[in-house]
Amino acid sequence: MAFTLSIHPWVHLAQYNGTEWIDNDLEQEHQTPEQEAALPEAELDALMVQRNSFPGLPLVNYTTQYGLGCFEGLKAFPQPDGSLKLFRPDQNCQRMASSMKGLMMPAVKPELLLDGIRRIVAKNAQLGFAPAYDAEWEKDHWLSGAAVYIRPFAYSEPGIGINLSKKPWVVTVCTNVSAYFTPGANAAVTSQRIRATKGGTGWIKTAANYVTSTLAKTEAINDGYMEAIFLDAETRENIEEGSSCNFFALFPGGQLVTPELGDTILPGITRSSIIELARSKGYTVREEPLSIHRVLSDAKECFVTGTAAGITPLGSLTHDGVKKEFSSLEDGSTANTLLKELKGIQYGAVKDGFNWMMDVK
Ligand SMILES: *Cc1c(COP(=O)(O)O)cnc(C)c1O
Repeated sequence: MAFTLSIHPWVHLAQYNGTEWIDNDLEQEHQTPEQEAALPEAELDALMVQRNSFPGLPLVNYTTQYGLGCFEGLKAFPQPDGSLKLFRPDQNCQRMASSMKGLMMPAVKPELLLDGIRRIVAKNAQLGFAPAYDAEWEKDHWLSGAAVYIRPFAYSEPGIGINLSKKPWVVTVCTNVSAYFTPGANAAVTSQRIRATKGGTGWIKTAANYVTSTLAKTEAINDGYMEAIFLDAETRENIEEGSSCNFFALFPGGQLVTPELGDTILPGITRSSIIELARSKGYTVREEPLSIHRVLSDAKECFVTGTAAGITPLGSLTHDGVKKEFSSLEDGSTANTLLKELKGIQYGAVKDGFNWMMDVK
């Protein structure tokens, strides 16, 4: 099949005009999902190319030339009652604004972005562009569950000289995602590469950070692993995070440790949710420097967290040729228990005691 990205018809466009943020919802050309699925390949490709182009947005700008851009990733989950609910979208909208500030561009108003997201997800769903809840997903605790993936991203005005963006757009697109898990793939390896340095952009969800992450992850995969784990730049002693996910280790006595936030770690929303969830279940959770040697000698379990998978339990971690195995994958492990609880809340089967889920409108 040709390279196709299926973007849903309704897109949210916001732009700073120098004084204020203005926004509108854009309905791109579409048929019904069933009609589109039945199109000959070339016609479907042409339609998807059209849906992935936004009139008036410049090709040559600071984002495409210099990586001066940031983005968000969040999901809307199908509920048993037929509705769709967003997981903590207010947090993503706030992080988008703080990333934009970090890139020294005017920050989008979080409420304007949140309203836009809620509207376009609802409008797309009305057209049938959203997965329907399937009770089959309950059999594997929603590991096979589908969702709507929502991607807001900042995009600069035209420019070819190196500069900051003064009138950025924030474009939000949606697409369906299905389960993101490869059975058996759960081994991680530390990377020689450096993702983030003090004083750098590691804490910002910027496009630029993904160059090193993608190179490291590809090297890990080529060596037979699933994920690359980054160590800190200065001492090469402490674990920071995965290629696009935060890191947790479980120690004896029910103590969970995740590296503390700072310049070099992305403040994941799944990370903070898991911290709250684990505390509510009686775990002690500490945010502190986490040395690779402590993990290799004492950790019982390790897992990584992020919007894509929720929690991914790690079966092993290899560092300098030494492989340490964990019990994270076993039924009843802490990683699996927290994963089921998180997915249960997201798919409307477990009571949302934290008020994390939000309706679309
Ligand atoms: C997005 C991201 C995460 C995970 O954040 P969530 O809000 O949980 O999706 C972790 N690390 C990096 C580098 C990221 O870009």
